[in-house]
Formats: sequence, C-alpha cells, structure tokens
Amino acid sequence: MEVINLEERFSAIFDRYEKAHSLSGEDIAALLRAEGEQLQALFQKADEVRERYLGKEVHLRAIIEFSNNCIKNCLYCGLRRDNRKLTRYRMPADEIFSAAVKASREGFKTIVLQAGEDPHYKPEVIADLVRRIKACSDVAVTLSLGDLTKDAYQKMRLAGADRYLLKFETSEPFLFGRLRPGTNLTGRLKQLSLLKELGYQVGSGNIIGLPGQSLDSVTEDILLLRKLGVEMAGIGPFIPHLQTPLRNSLPGDLYLNLKALAVTRLLLPLTHLPATTAIAAVHASGRRLALKSGANVVMPDLTPLPYRSYYDIYPGRTRTQSGNSYLRWKEELEQMGRSIAGGYGYGAIHASPDWQF
Ligand code: SF4
Repeated sequence: MEVINLEERFSAIFDRYEKAHSLSGEDIAALLRAEGEQLQALFQKADEVRERYLGKEVHLRAIIEFSNNCIKNCLYCGLRRDNRKLTRYRMPADEIFSAAVKASREGFKTIVLQAGEDPHYKPEVIADLVRRIKACSDVAVTLSLGDLTKDAYQKMRLAGADRYLLKFETSEPFLFGRLRPGTNLTGRLKQLSLLKELGYQVGSGNIIGLPGQSLDSVTEDILLLRKLGVEMAGIGPFIPHLQTPLRNSLPGDLYLNLKALAVTRLLLPLTHLPATTAIAAVHASGRRLALKSGANVVMPDLTPLPYRSYYDIYPGRTRTQSGNSYLRWKEELEQMGRSIAGGYGYGAIHASPDWQF
C-alpha cells in the first residue's frame, strides 16, 4: 500500500513539474528522499530534461590548477592555510600559458584557471595571462580564484575572462561561517552579485554531506541555486581530508549527491551541471552516473603532471585522473551515446529578477 502511495506521490510531483516547470521546497525534499524505483524515476526524469533542453552534447572544460597556496582556512579543504604537510607550488605565468595553449590544441573550448586564494598572483598578471590565452587560442576562459576585490574582478573581465566560479558551498549561514572562518554567506552572495554585474557568466555550487548539514539545508541550497540563476552549478560530495579538522567526519553520500544534481537539473534546465571530480573520487562510476542524472559538463584536469598531485583539496582526486585527454573523453562519451559539444558552452539563461542581494 505504501509503495502505491509513494508511486502516486512521485507521479503527482512530476505532473506538477511538467505543468509549472517548477518544484516547491516540499517537492524537492520528497525527491531528495527518493529510493528504489522512485530514485530511478528521478534520474530518468532529469536525464530526459537534460536531453530536451541541452541535447546529447557534453561540454569539456580543461582545468589548470596553477597554485595550491591559500590564505583561507576552510575546515573541509586540504589546501587550507594550516595544512603544513602539503607541498605547495606556484606555476609561473609562462607555464600556465603553455598548459592552456596545449589544452586548446587538443580541442578543449574552455580553459578553467583555478587556484587557492593566492595574493602572489596580482590581478594584472592574471589579466595579462587571460589576454595572451585568448589572443592565440579559440577558447572561453573561466576563472576560479576565490574572493577578490571589485577592481581585480573588473581587470580580469576587461582582459576577456568570460566566466567566474565561486561556490557558496552551503546556504546555511551558521554552517557557512563555521566551515569558512572569517567569512560569511552574505559576503559570498554579494560577491556573486558583483560578478554578475561585471558581466561574467557566473558559476556557483554546493557541497553535499557537510558535517552538520541537514536534508532541509540541501533543499535550501538547491533553491538558492535557482534564485541565483547561475549559469553553472557544481554539486559535489564532502570528502574528509586527513589534514583538516573534519578528518573524522563521514563523507557525503553518493546517491544524495546524484539526487541533488537531478533535482537541480529539473529546476534549472539550461544551467551547465558538471559531473564533478569529487563525485568521481567517491565512486569509480561517479561521473558516468552523474552524466545519466542530469549532468552535461566534465572538467578534465590538464594541470601539468609535476603539480597535479599536490592540488590536494580532498583525497582520491588522483585516482580520477588517468586519461584526462580530449580523445579519451571523446571515446567514453561516444560509448554513452553522447558527444563533445563543439562550442564554448556560453550560458543560455538569465538571472531571475531577485538576483540582487
Ligand atoms: S576551499 Fe578554497 S578558499 Fe577555502 S581553503 Fe580551500 S582553496 Fe582556500
């Protein structure tokens, strides 16, 4: 009897979704609790919506992690300032440039330049790098460099940077403040608003399974992603790192992560959703499962090998990095009936009217 009720409940949620193209907080919470047949129905629905709005194409975004130095001390992150056991590195600008050009020659249409918050790289240096990369390669450039000043964001945008990734990690203000000492959620949301104002395509995202996070909090995360109207949303599981205060906490649940991804696809049909490296780190088929649950982006790590293993945000990353080449992904995606997108993957969505904070 219970099974019939559950079936009816889920089918009513999907019917409401098809009519309104939206979901209430209550519907999201119910979907996040899906199990068994309902779970498969949710993944299938998200896959259908991804196919309907974005087709079979998958955007490959080559990521170059050029510095693992960080002035911040986030409790969940292996790059945190207080981790004295990590070998730190900084790639010289010319080396970053060469890695970007190499990735572009392989066929990648987006280069993501990512680092910890490292004041060593002045905004002028990054701006110059962006200008050089764009002058000699047919790529979009995404930056993921954390909290910077308006002036810095502006310089890099004027140099041609197309997108900026800045995750809010959790929509719960208290949890945010506890996990990211010295910062607060309001400040992060203002930064996201500023990036939008400066003309960046903005990506954000959240972590699933943070210690102290409730299911209601995950529901709120998804609603915040919709409110922000992000062009891209990275949703990855928490993975405890031995050299952090959260070393003894349990990791995030793979299936809760996939459910959050699927629900986000329903609510944000045009947003680019990556099958994250973190999801690949918690399960050997994590990326494939994500690509079948609404994801349409993969971000292969093109950081040169001497540095790659030191970008140790969470354990298990290196396991995911055999075969990051363009051709390897082409084969893998073809096996799944998918193909590599030929364009830059500029976002097709617009911010909702309540974007400003
Ligand atoms: S999450 Fe980002 S800002 Fe926080 S310590 Fe890690 S790299 Fe630094």
